[in-house]
Amino acid sequence: MLNHNLFVTLRQHFPADLDACAIETADGPGAPLYYSWRDLDRASARIANLLESLDLPPASRVAVQTEKSVEALILYLAVLRAGHVYLPLNTAYQAAEIEYFIGNAEPAVFVTTQKNFTWVSRIAFAAGTTHVFTLNEDRTGTLLDRAAFQADEHTPAFKESDELAAILYTSGTTGRSKGAMLSHRNLASNAQVLKHYWRWQAGDVLIHALPIFHVHGLFVASHGALLNGSKMIWLAKYDPKAVLARLPEATVFMGVPTLYVRLLAENGLDRAACRNMRLFISGSAPLLIETFTDWQQRTGHTILERYGMSETIMLTSNPCDPADGERRGGTVGFPLPGVGLRIRDDAGQDLPAGEIGGIQVHGPNVFAGYWRMPEKTKEEFTDDGWFKTGDVGQRDADGYVTIVGRSKDLIITGGYNVYPAEVEGFINDMPGVAESAVIGVPHPDFGEGVVAVVVPKAGMSLDGVAIVAELKSKIANFKVPKQVFVVPELPRNTMGKVQKNLLREQHRGLFA
Ligand code: AMP
Repeated sequence: MLNHNLFVTLRQHFPADLDACAIETADGPGAPLYYSWRDLDRASARIANLLESLDLPPASRVAVQTEKSVEALILYLAVLRAGHVYLPLNTAYQAAEIEYFIGNAEPAVFVTTQKNFTWVSRIAFAAGTTHVFTLNEDRTGTLLDRAAFQADEHTPAFKESDELAAILYTSGTTGRSKGAMLSHRNLASNAQVLKHYWRWQAGDVLIHALPIFHVHGLFVASHGALLNGSKMIWLAKYDPKAVLARLPEATVFMGVPTLYVRLLAENGLDRAACRNMRLFISGSAPLLIETFTDWQQRTGHTILERYGMSETIMLTSNPCDPADGERRGGTVGFPLPGVGLRIRDDAGQDLPAGEIGGIQVHGPNVFAGYWRMPEKTKEEFTDDGWFKTGDVGQRDADGYVTIVGRSKDLIITGGYNVYPAEVEGFINDMPGVAESAVIGVPHPDFGEGVVAVVVPKAGMSLDGVAIVAELKSKIANFKVPKQVFVVPELPRNTMGKVQKNLLREQHRGLFA
């Protein structure tokens, strides 16, 4: 029987010369470090053997909150290899958030940093997690110490295609995060489609400058290079100067729009710097048309914009090969091969070209549902099995898809999602606060900047700066409002709903 373990698929595409360089670090302790394909194979075997030695129940969740490092990527490969379920967590998450994820996912293993070990292990052990390891940026920590005693050969666990490979948490508008369950088939099929559609070829070199706790950096970028046997130039931190310095050696770059904006601010960005580049890809948030055209003028390259989400991995893409069509700025291109996409109104009727409605999708890349949330899962799928993305968009007569908004008021800042309801929950819990509304307004660098409008309880006064300081100790920095306005009341419609559109309008020039 065929083993559908994603690791097996990735491993099959390692190049014949296992001593060739798979990853070269461009920053971080000890850089440059060189990892061969054999290193990736052996190091992931050791960690997979360590996981097996722990006698975990099958398909245990392995939660990981570490800084970006090659070892963290190897850990991901090892979890796949051992047949467990990888659960990456944003490095910015604080105790209240981690407590929720651990309670919901019940990981058997948690990998954290030495810096966070004390508070993370307290939460994890209290919730029944049996093993907490550390993994630091400088390749120290108990995970690698323990793995060093393991054999460097390992037979990948047998997996059916629909078995779970990873859980990605995406916050919900109600404030509760939902774990998107992705199978080996979801991940493998999408990676194969992208390999073909983006024309990955011999000699490609990827600059990997994205975080690896998110669909973009972990799946789209890493799988792309691994499945093509391509070298990665690995940046743990995003630094436009460092990216620019390595561009002449690279052929493929993937970034969120903010990264492109920051690169454009560098004087050295020109045609010469991009002379070997084949493909610039953007996604995770809307790419402004100015960025698209500025990039064309400065570099001679047309950015390829694509669209996807944690629940589905990639859904649409502008063409790579000119034979498939031109890359159109402001659009996210066509549904990828194998992806069904339809645009429907609230009554469930299909809409013709040019009309705006809710985007629904299906295909081998679409997740099975939310972890331990059957009700939520049911709500998000139609009766005939299509996933309601929550994005609002349209398709033009040529078939190009454009995203016009988000039905759920999601804020995307610097490529990260912020769900207003979650931040509002933390603000509303503060003494003296009656209610609050969190919105996103245009921001030249981050796409959107988070802003809070807060109403004090009668007779109380509030200090916006103190609210920001308090939030910083509780939630990830990217979710903390850049500005807090204290107002006597929030605008409401006749149904009693807060009119966030009015607030957005009122503050839209804030960061201009
Ligand atoms: P995440 O699950 O964090 O990847 O966030 C997914 C959401 O990001 C999608 O539902 C979209 O709202 C948004 N998104 C992703 N790519 C694009 C894009 N190219 N243009 C506009 N929005 C995008």
